[in-house]
Amino acid sequence: MTSTVLKRTSMTTRAITRSQFDLAADLLNLEDYMRQLLVRPFRSLTVEVPVRMDDGSYQVLEGYRVQHNGARGPCKGGVRYHPEADELEVLGLATTMTWKTALLDIPFGGAKGGVQVDPRGLSTRELEEVTRVFTSRISLALGPYRDIPAPDMGTNAQVMAWMFDEYSKRGGYSPAVVTGKPIALGGSLGREEATGRGVMYTMQYFSQDYGVPLKGGTVAIQGFGNVGAHLARLLHEQGAKIIAVSDVDGGFHNDGGIDIPRMFQHAYVDRRPVPEFKGEGGTITNDQLWNVSCDWLAPSALGGVITKEKNASTIDCKVVVEGANTPVTPISDKILDDRGIPVLPDFLANAGGVVVSYFEWVQNLQQHPWSITKVTEELEAKMRVAYDDVRKIVEEKGVPWRTAAFTISLARVAEAERLRGHHDSNSASS
Ligand code: GLU
Repeated sequence: MTSTVLKRTSMTTRAITRSQFDLAADLLNLEDYMRQLLVRPFRSLTVEVPVRMDDGSYQVLEGYRVQHNGARGPCKGGVRYHPEADELEVLGLATTMTWKTALLDIPFGGAKGGVQVDPRGLSTRELEEVTRVFTSRISLALGPYRDIPAPDMGTNAQVMAWMFDEYSKRGGYSPAVVTGKPIALGGSLGREEATGRGVMYTMQYFSQDYGVPLKGGTVAIQGFGNVGAHLARLLHEQGAKIIAVSDVDGGFHNDGGIDIPRMFQHAYVDRRPVPEFKGEGGTITNDQLWNVSCDWLAPSALGGVITKEKNASTIDCKVVVEGANTPVTPISDKILDDRGIPVLPDFLANAGGVVVSYFEWVQNLQQHPWSITKVTEELEAKMRVAYDDVRKIVEEKGVPWRTAAFTISLARVAEAERLRGHHDSNSASS
């Protein structure tokens, strides 16, 4: 189970996405009714999740599924198991999914789900029960052409297998209702590493265009879950020097470059704490990771970790790449911009996961699996086009990367809303 439980900062994910939205909406002169339409969720479900624990006691958890927008296609987004998951956070993340699917131009809207629970404290049987009860209670809003969940923080392919099974009890065999499934149940080759791979492509393109070195360049990665671990592995294969990594328990640092294949085995495959790694280098605290001098800094765990109070004025890198969703608060975005440090935004940089989710959905609907070569080539092509679209606006308008990306996404979603008449424009989801 990949679970990175870190302390949340004061600014909520919802507030972060809202303030970023306003900036881009102003730039596009978006009408007031369209702003209202795009700020609020299409549908938000909160459900009770009663679970019988192994000791015979019962717990009643809370679960959420928020469908932010479905104008461009079925709602799409992960399910997060985290003790601090709540409705506002899930809404913020669902909103980010709308912009992400629009920017990558895949035929989906945006959604997100969550259960307020620490999965590390659950047995496998308890985890399965949480998943089955949660799925059954939100299943009325799910469907291959309605809303398609996927893994996110604290969930994985096994959890998706249970969701698929639970949904199929009512809906009949429906592999396309969730993505990120195990390969044996219709999952796509390359899905597990897809987010990290997409982050790597974004860094490669940026490196080619702006000369920040990747081969031989130095990288610090916060978070060693599905995103951070695969990103570290892939960048290492490309000849980058990963000099600092961390997880919830602490970090590890080596200016000469960490032995990433061994760290990957230790922290990702064997699920051991990063600071317990025995290899060249030394441990650092989670706070010290932000002071490491490097070319690339890739926050790849929770949202709201780069803040004005903590580190935005002091982090020492050439580029910030958002492997996580919403790791940089809006005021920190501004501070970094003033300092001349570009931020490659989440809904571009980490979109590889949902892109391969889209490929998985296509393969499921056609019952025709793709080779890993095809998945990788098509992912590369999608990331390239989105990156180029954003870069063009950055260059033409002289705006930050996030603002440029937002203008593309907002314009696409608003156009779809207008064309559909925006009265019942989420009929794919209704
Ligand atoms: N949870 C991932 C994200 O935030 C993937 C979502 C999906 O594949 O639907 O992008």
